[in-house]
Amino acid sequence: MAPAAGDHAALRADVRRFLAEEVTAGGFVPKIDSWVRGFSREFTRRLAARGWVGMTVPGRFGGAGRSHRERFVVAEELLAAGAPVLAHWAAERQVAPMLLRIGTEEQQHRLLPGIVRGELCFAIGLSEPDSGSDLASVRTKAARVEGGWELTGQKVWTSAGHHADYMFVLCRTSESAQRHEGLSQLMVTMTAEGVTARPIPTMSGEAEFAEVFFDRVFVPDSDVIGDVGRGWEQVTRELGWERNGPDRYLSTYPLLARFFALEDACLAAVKGQLAARLLALRALTFEVMERSQAGLDFAAEAALAKDAGTTFEQDSVELIRRALGSAVSDHPELEAHLRAAQIASSTFTLRGGTTEMLRTVTARQLVNR
Ligand SMILES: Cc1cc2nc3c(=O)[nH]c(=O)nc-3n(C[C@H](O)[C@H](O)[C@H](O)COP(=O)(O)OP(=O)(O)OC[C@H]3O[C@@H](n4cnc5c(N)ncnc54)[C@H](O)[C@@H]3O)c2cc1C
Repeated sequence: MAPAAGDHAALRADVRRFLAEEVTAGGFVPKIDSWVRGFSREFTRRLAARGWVGMTVPGRFGGAGRSHRERFVVAEELLAAGAPVLAHWAAERQVAPMLLRIGTEEQQHRLLPGIVRGELCFAIGLSEPDSGSDLASVRTKAARVEGGWELTGQKVWTSAGHHADYMFVLCRTSESAQRHEGLSQLMVTMTAEGVTARPIPTMSGEAEFAEVFFDRVFVPDSDVIGDVGRGWEQVTRELGWERNGPDRYLSTYPLLARFFALEDACLAAVKGQLAARLLALRALTFEVMERSQAGLDFAAEAALAKDAGTTFEQDSVELIRRALGSAVSDHPELEAHLRAAQIASSTFTLRGGTTEMLRTVTARQLVNR
């Protein structure tokens, strides 16, 4: 069962109070899609000081070892408030769980405490100019050199790539007749010689992602993530974490919250429709999270949840636009969120895997189960 409103009520109330104080003090301006469009290292550090970054990291690595249910509650509140969480989102969502599962003891001690303190920003380097949906076709290559690997190639659409301290890069480390073999994950230090990150401006006028070039970048053996040659298997699991979370159905919530607050009986049917879908998605996402925590296979369920969640996000923008029509201009704050949501809307079903690819993943996984 997804957490009820009363679950971890004290924690939820604490986070809400903190966020309200932040808004009042000008700590942030609420945005839709804030996990992609809201970057603030200062906010992340203030959040970390409360113990709300890397919450499930065990005490021996500086974390509080709190439950995944508590983490879910905090994530919901941050997204619902439109708080700027991009600086730690990848670290929190997939890097910390990966390091805990497949990182070396040395990597865990070196990186996890910095994540928990909100000091380290990570980017995820999968997509390339000619390789998005067909990820196994990545051309970025690493050649074996003394003490490590020499990396050459290019990534694109890398969220926070121009802000990050480190990037997890999927690359080819050996040629193989089987294209899913011979791939590995390397952690690149973004200040290393040969790394260039250029922000890509978007229609919104912001630059939320970057293109990143690697020109013979040296990556020491100590920064290989997991096993050389098992990159595909590792990334598949990582994508499960990336795809299943409240960020896949709450991106437009600041807009929804303002819509729900309008007192107009004519809007009741649309409100009911949105609320019902939202609650169902929340329950689904929570169940998939529990499945992943139980060590069960969850790639198909995560793909399904992402498909359903991001379709809802897109529908929510359109339903609200149609329900309000020209009356939207009576509500300036809501109108601003609606405009931003309309611009971002097409990206909801692209990032993290397109709808077509998710349905393919789901079908393949279920057939093979
Ligand atoms: C806001 C945002 C943030 C992003 N952040 C990151 C990031 O941090 N790191 C990262 O690595 N990437 C990131 N991406 C990239 C994202 O993962 C890719 O855009 C996505 O995987 C699709 O790849 P593509 O753009 O190359 O499109 P393509 O793969 O070229 O697909 C184009 C269209 O063709 C369809 N298509 C392709 N192949 C098939 C097929 N076999 N069957 C049916 N239909 C198919 C797709 O569904 C899509 O509709 C981000 C993208 C966005 C929009």
